[in-house]
Amino acid sequence: MSKQLQVELTAPNGHRYTQPLGLFINNEWHPSSNGGVITSINPSNEQAIATVEAASESDIDKAVKAARKALRDPSWSEMSGTDRGKLMRRLVQLIEENRETLATIEAWDNGKPYSVALNEDLVETSETLLYYAGYADKIFGQVIETTPAKFAYTVREPVGVCGQIIPWNYPLSMAAWKLGPALACGNTVVLKPAEQTPLSILFVATLIKKAGFPPGVINIVNGYGPVAGAALATHMDVDKVAFTGSAATAKQIMKLASSNLKSITLEAGGKSPLLVFNDADLDNAVEWAHIGIMSNQGQICTATSRILVQSDLYDKFVAAFRARVKSVSKVGDPFDAQTFQGPQVTKAQYDRIRSYVDIGKDEGATLEMGGERPTAANKGFFIEPTVFTGVSPTMRIFQEEVFGPFVVIGRFESEDKAVELANDTQYGLGAAVFTTDLTRAHRVARRIEAGMVWINSSNDSDWRIPFGGVKASGIGRELGEAGLAAYSNIKAIHVNMAVRSKL
Ligand code: NAD
Repeated sequence: MSKQLQVELTAPNGHRYTQPLGLFINNEWHPSSNGGVITSINPSNEQAIATVEAASESDIDKAVKAARKALRDPSWSEMSGTDRGKLMRRLVQLIEENRETLATIEAWDNGKPYSVALNEDLVETSETLLYYAGYADKIFGQVIETTPAKFAYTVREPVGVCGQIIPWNYPLSMAAWKLGPALACGNTVVLKPAEQTPLSILFVATLIKKAGFPPGVINIVNGYGPVAGAALATHMDVDKVAFTGSAATAKQIMKLASSNLKSITLEAGGKSPLLVFNDADLDNAVEWAHIGIMSNQGQICTATSRILVQSDLYDKFVAAFRARVKSVSKVGDPFDAQTFQGPQVTKAQYDRIRSYVDIGKDEGATLEMGGERPTAANKGFFIEPTVFTGVSPTMRIFQEEVFGPFVVIGRFESEDKAVELANDTQYGLGAAVFTTDLTRAHRVARRIEAGMVWINSSNDSDWRIPFGGVKASGIGRELGEAGLAAYSNIKAIHVNMAVRSKL
């Protein structure tokens, strides 16, 4: 009997839809070749939602072969950039038509509030794809004259078959960040979602087929990191690998990708500082500091998880921040419109945060609030927003990425000390600066070692603006025009218009 590769589901909000379960290769649904499966768990009540196929090494090979064939097939390789852009827009239209379904799956599978999934993740997903659809017919080279008889022109060609490995914190928008520039530049893709959130992207796969993408252009294969992810990163016929996730996995991928010197883009984590100077607008700083660490259950790579406040303002800031967390960070059911913070994505993440609460206490920091499971929740991976003060740079809770609603607040006296503390990290993803002194704002922005600095805000991310880190936060940039660079190769074609003796 052939395996059931889709199932009818009713979500907690009563939304009914058909959930695909298979591996999406060549625009068709396949079972795993070795019977591997992933059961996705609802983090709100710890019950199974659905069981999807998990790719083996040979399934990855099958997907890569499909992507290679599609790359050479005239239906894709000879499609004009304009038509590629139209296909991408058609996909966006279908995503828009199904946005309630997609937001429902996202809230159910990941635990993020439904309103956030609908009004933020889905908007970002569509806008990112639309932005890159606009680029599809604007990717071209240059003419470079050298001597009167000679010139060269450059063309920008697709890199080839791209392996894309994404995390679970923003399942759909992370996919869009990676698919958008890859498709605009004419590449083909094997995308491996995170095993914690395998569902929403499979629904998108049905839309990819419906939009009319030729078979093999986009393949979506769920699977476990050390099996399917590693097979993709090592595969000798994959030209590029793009990854978002932990720094530890990024380092492994860099090694695996050396098998055939793949081009790599790595977006790893951070421990981003948020500096509040004495002259800052306190209410504004508190509001953004709260958003910067407590949104998305604190599961944001750019989360401003180290708040540093200048001494004169420190006590006032801590009091106001505590009050803000108390009044805004309502923890609960992702489908309840009042909820600000849903459960953490998995038990592993929940346990990790709880372990850092213990580490903080053992290190002698002061637990200002949180750190426990909310009393009303007896099921689900819910955790109270957690704030530590009395921290020092040698503490693990000051240095290590926790990836949850967990923040440390320290203090500084001078601008030099603020910059020193901000840069005292292996990471360099984002940083926020709160001050009303224009000169200081720009001076500090330049002194901080980070890929992105927010002046008087935190965690702004926009598809039109380059995103990425320095130091152990990654290699390369995504989003904006800069995001295209990773997905095309420049070929220089030299032209000689004279015979050699007359050069
Ligand atoms: P991870 O880095 O292990 O997983 C991210 C992706 O990489 C997933 O798709 C996973 O399947 C894949 N992967 C894992 N091991 C692999 C391997 N050996 N080869 C190829 N692919 C592999 O992250 P995680 O275990 O889900 O989370 C652990 C920590 O990572 C978090 O606590 C957080 O600190 C960090 N994280 C960061 C981000 C981010 O956006 N920067 C996102 C998720 C997690």
